[in-house]
Amino acid sequence: MKKVKSIEHIGVFTSGGDAPGMNAAIRAVVRTAHYHGLQVSGIMEGYNGLVTDDVKALGTRDVSNIIQRGGTILRSARSKEFMTLEGRLAAKKTLDKHGIDALVAIGGDGTFRGAEVFIAEHGVPIVGITGTIDNDMGGTDTTIGFDTATNTAMELVDRIRDTASSHDRLFFVEVMGRSSGAIAMHCGVAAGAEFVMIPERKQGIVELIAVLERAEKSKSSVIVIVAEGDEEGGAYEVARKVKERYAHYETRVSVLGHVQRGGNPTVADRILASRSGVTAVEALIAGHAGEMVGVVNGEMVLTSFSMAVAAGKVTDNKDLDRILTILST
Ligand code: ATP
Repeated sequence: MKKVKSIEHIGVFTSGGDAPGMNAAIRAVVRTAHYHGLQVSGIMEGYNGLVTDDVKALGTRDVSNIIQRGGTILRSARSKEFMTLEGRLAAKKTLDKHGIDALVAIGGDGTFRGAEVFIAEHGVPIVGITGTIDNDMGGTDTTIGFDTATNTAMELVDRIRDTASSHDRLFFVEVMGRSSGAIAMHCGVAAGAEFVMIPERKQGIVELIAVLERAEKSKSSVIVIVAEGDEEGGAYEVARKVKERYAHYETRVSVLGHVQRGGNPTVADRILASRSGVTAVEALIAGHAGEMVGVVNGEMVLTSFSMAVAAGKVTDNKDLDRILTILST
């Protein structure tokens, strides 16, 4: 492939919500860049660090011992300043000052929207790596952080099942997902939940009541997983609506919250992050820009930011929903 401009110095940052595996991706970017003889700088707190010039050189030893750690050593943020023309101009000045001529952005769809705008205005080559627990991007089968977050949620639901089945209880467990039901659906199938409520589907209280009526005769415990962005409300709201009609049920609500974001990344997330980091740096060297690294059917692929963001996730939720219905009887 024809090189547009030879790249000598790469900047890397993490942006938006943090996700387990971001550190493994940073490590892979830094070490791949050095392997190819490039200089690397870490930009702190997402786009904020570009706007405020919070940049530090990263050598291969600076990323020792982080592959196993959750969170992100570069910290992450949502940057209001970068949403403005002036903010992005300041960001460009920071890049010029440090001689950074390309960026690897690790984040979600918002991060890639911002990258598109920055490329259009200032022509800086940027390649993206998915770092979001929501698994809501097009152009990839899974995003870095999703496997870890889902495993964490599943383990917690397993524990809830132990106590639920000792007391004949109906549990509502709220998992993360403001607009994506991926964690809820995967966790629901993996933990053997009776019903899952997700924002992408209009199945609500009526369908849930039908499941509860069936389960009442045959099950010692029932677990309903509720994605936080479900249109019926969060787990407390769903429990309240059920209680209105089924006063005799002993219900409990558990909101898992931010524990789902933390923890050591799983094997799958560490490997995806490592592969993504290598692919992103080598893509920049080869002259790519405005594209996101993803994995499709086991192969690393590049998809334009616009397609990755517009496509959203073609989820397997429908298939999993059918599987859950069959297996939870
Ligand atoms: P997550 O999926 O975890 O929420 P995200 O990358 O989608 O991650 P956002 O907060 O949506 O997180 O986006 C991260 C940052 O990207 C924003 O705080 C903002 O600085 C920048 N950004 C998003 N959209 C734009 C845009 N249209 N123009 C400029 N910058 C943007």
